[in-house]
Amino acid sequence: MPAQDKKIWLSPPHMGGEELYFIQQAFQENWIAPLGPNVSGFEQDIEQYLGEDKYVAALSSGTAAMHLALVLLGIGVGDEVLCQSLTFAASVNPVLYVGATPVFIDSEPNSGNMCPHLLEEAIEHRLKHGKKPKAIIAVHLYGMPYMHDEINAVAEKYEIPVIEDSAEALGSSYKGQPCGTLGNMSVLSFNGNKIITTSGGGALVTRTRALKDKSVFLATQAKDEAPHYEHSTLGYNYRMSNVCAGIGRGQMKVLADRVLVKREIFDKYALFFETIAGVSPFKTYDATAYSNHWLSVILINEEETAGKTPAMLMKAFDEVNIESRPLWKPMHLQPLYKDCLYFGLGVSDRLFKTGLCLPSGTGMVEEDYNRIFGVLTSFFK
Ligand SMILES: *Cc1c(COP(=O)(O)O)cnc(C)c1O
Repeated sequence: MPAQDKKIWLSPPHMGGEELYFIQQAFQENWIAPLGPNVSGFEQDIEQYLGEDKYVAALSSGTAAMHLALVLLGIGVGDEVLCQSLTFAASVNPVLYVGATPVFIDSEPNSGNMCPHLLEEAIEHRLKHGKKPKAIIAVHLYGMPYMHDEINAVAEKYEIPVIEDSAEALGSSYKGQPCGTLGNMSVLSFNGNKIITTSGGGALVTRTRALKDKSVFLATQAKDEAPHYEHSTLGYNYRMSNVCAGIGRGQMKVLADRVLVKREIFDKYALFFETIAGVSPFKTYDATAYSNHWLSVILINEEETAGKTPAMLMKAFDEVNIESRPLWKPMHLQPLYKDCLYFGLGVSDRLFKTGLCLPSGTGMVEEDYNRIFGVLTSFFK
């Protein structure tokens, strides 16, 4: 296949080289199971990365981690959970798994994440109706830290726990604190296109060993201590496999480098768009936020680009086999969630309409960049 036809993916897996070593070890020792030395080794690697007093349970997906977080908080039928509307459905679907109801909150324009003012408005509204929300799910979209101090102030004022969806933000930080350590519990994902991957996987980050142990207990079918299989609690099959965790151990060795490259990719785009009217790269709002720039996002104001839209640019990329992608379609606009309460001012609708995620693979080479910037140049200039 000629090089110019080779697909450039949005954010493909990028192996570091040592992954196979850990997988081979798993094969040699026959630890082909959802437990083993790679699982605990991978957990330790992440715990070390996140800092003191963080406990990590490696799971089969980020979605599973979100589900367990809700279960651990005792959320169930009839409860309400405050959710960021602009996100991937996996942030929210577990709310339905436990029989609870999401209440959607719009974004603020700085980070594109949950608006603290609308969050407070929603809480006041629900309290007036005698319904105290049980949790807040805030997301760091595309690696951009949400406005933690403001969100946290509201959460503390009303004493509502925060589940931090850090699936896209491993390697980001807020005021020097790593994303994945900011909520009462935090969710990580190692799906194929995330900043590091285990092919598929996730983790729940807790603040106590007891909660981690409980997560692992629930994730391995909740077997009580007995010589036979005894169950007094509803369990799940959510543990990460030792083979996948081997990939994770290799990937942890290159995480810091992947973050630097993602940020370089964003800088390349930002430099290019300096001279293009109507296109703004979605930058961090101030120096408190450090983004891993998992995906580089631009916003296009078609009034200033002579009618050029994100959809048109996406098509131009697609014609030469380059993947780009619209922003997440807000949950309050999804058929599945159309009947849910929503507190908003149209910010996430606008971000969805004007945004585009550009190719952000850390394995891209000179030739790939040339193709991408070739498309951007002929499209905008
Ligand atoms: C990927 C992702 C998830 C879910 O993670 P999986 O490992 O794919 O289940 C949750 N939330 C957000 C914001 C994500 O991007």
